[in-house]
Amino acid sequence: MTDAAAELILASVRRPGSKAPLDVHLRGGVVAGISPAGTLAHKARPLRTVDCAGRFIIPGLWDEHVHFTQWALHANRLDLSAATSAHEAAAAVGRFIAADPAEGTGPGHPITAVGVGFRDALWPDTPTLAMLDAAAGKRPAALISHDLHCVWVNTAAARRYGLRVDASGLLREEPAFLLTRELGRLPDAVVDGWISQAAKDAAARGVVGVVDFEMTWNRDPWLRRMAAGFDSLRVEAGVYPADLERAAAEGLRTDREVPGGNGLLRTGPLKVLIDGSLNTRTAYCVDPYPFGGHGLLTVPIDELRALLRRARETGFVPAVHAIGDAANRVALDAFEHAGIGGRIEHAQFVRREDFARFAALGVVASVQPAHALDDRDAAEANWSGRTDRAFPLRSLLDAGATLALGSDAPVAALDPWAAVSAATTRSSFDGRDPWQPQEAITREQALAASTRGRDTVQVGSPADLVLLDADPLAVPDSGLAAMPVAATLVGGHFTYDGGWAASQG
Ligand SMILES: [Zn+2]
Repeated sequence: MTDAAAELILASVRRPGSKAPLDVHLRGGVVAGISPAGTLAHKARPLRTVDCAGRFIIPGLWDEHVHFTQWALHANRLDLSAATSAHEAAAAVGRFIAADPAEGTGPGHPITAVGVGFRDALWPDTPTLAMLDAAAGKRPAALISHDLHCVWVNTAAARRYGLRVDASGLLREEPAFLLTRELGRLPDAVVDGWISQAAKDAAARGVVGVVDFEMTWNRDPWLRRMAAGFDSLRVEAGVYPADLERAAAEGLRTDREVPGGNGLLRTGPLKVLIDGSLNTRTAYCVDPYPFGGHGLLTVPIDELRALLRRARETGFVPAVHAIGDAANRVALDAFEHAGIGGRIEHAQFVRREDFARFAALGVVASVQPAHALDDRDAAEANWSGRTDRAFPLRSLLDAGATLALGSDAPVAALDPWAAVSAATTRSSFDGRDPWQPQEAITREQALAASTRGRDTVQVGSPADLVLLDADPLAVPDSGLAAMPVAATLVGGHFTYDGGWAASQG
């Protein structure tokens, strides 16, 4: 993957905002030279040259916060949120199964067809076992409701999972939770295949790397995938507190390369959750929620401080999940107390007096701008009168903080252009006014926060690059989320090119 021999000229590219075509020489995984178009081609040795026809070049994009396995599972589940009746949901399952190749043979096959997000409260008809049998046939099918408290199964699924269901085919509460957990347990080969596809899809959006906060001992699954040839993305695999001592004992350190990872795998931060979420009203807040309570601080302050001190001793950068303004204050206090910098994940709601503390303490704000638009109504309902400091991207930047953009996939789609669009427009282009538009940042700022601070492609930059079919500084606001990506390179190798570059030999 990172073989030092890879050498290539990207001919006729342009930097955003510029008309001057350039040739970019890649060697040994870095940008070795940049010169006016046409001048590099005259070198003595013939090099593979890809004519990029004036496409725009930017540094490779990172998604700083994903749950990659959950995202891959999500991408292979059927979204039933639009079904307006049980019959419609069943019909969608029938079409999904007809189109889904996950048949195969061997243990665990055929893979259970899983649907998610159905809302039966308003359906005119009621789900039945027979209805889902008719749609899914012998293929096990399990449909998880929007609120996760109900699962609708067919006879084949009941048989596979040893479930007792009546003619409704519905499981509720504990049996539903148990089955939902079981549905996430799939053969490694199936999950790895889905992950490989999800990574290719990410590369097709310009992503060169992800910070993966999958909630598990995450190194070994990634080593297995790398050994099997995974090469679409760089991965920084996070560690959770329960595994900190094991990770330290095995020589893992944040940012350190993991042996056996083909040069693509590094250890990520230590992820520490200290509060809940806005939608469940468990984000820990200074002021009470309209229905009472301040949310939850899920780790006592002393324990958090001890954990951050231990992170410092063992070479781990803490990434503290903090959504509410009280949780952000607690997290900043703990960083200060432990004498270590790091990251706060989400930073959705922050006291004004805390904005400047991010920079002062060396704490990066790892933010997911698409949530600002998905959660605007929940924020207005729960943080009423204070949402001028909700998802405060501009205020954090103005106070000197470093921003790092991400998706929190599967909560939002793993697509950095959705994040860049939300961060710069604060609009979903759905007819509503932009939300708290004073907190929008510029495109240059959003791109820098998606490229680990690399503003532009320069000599010495990693050969992790994206070629675009449009100038990201010039497309209209409404077109930014759908930015056309022409090619992506990691370490000087194409991970995506839509076929046009490969056809040039
Ligand atoms: Zn997350």
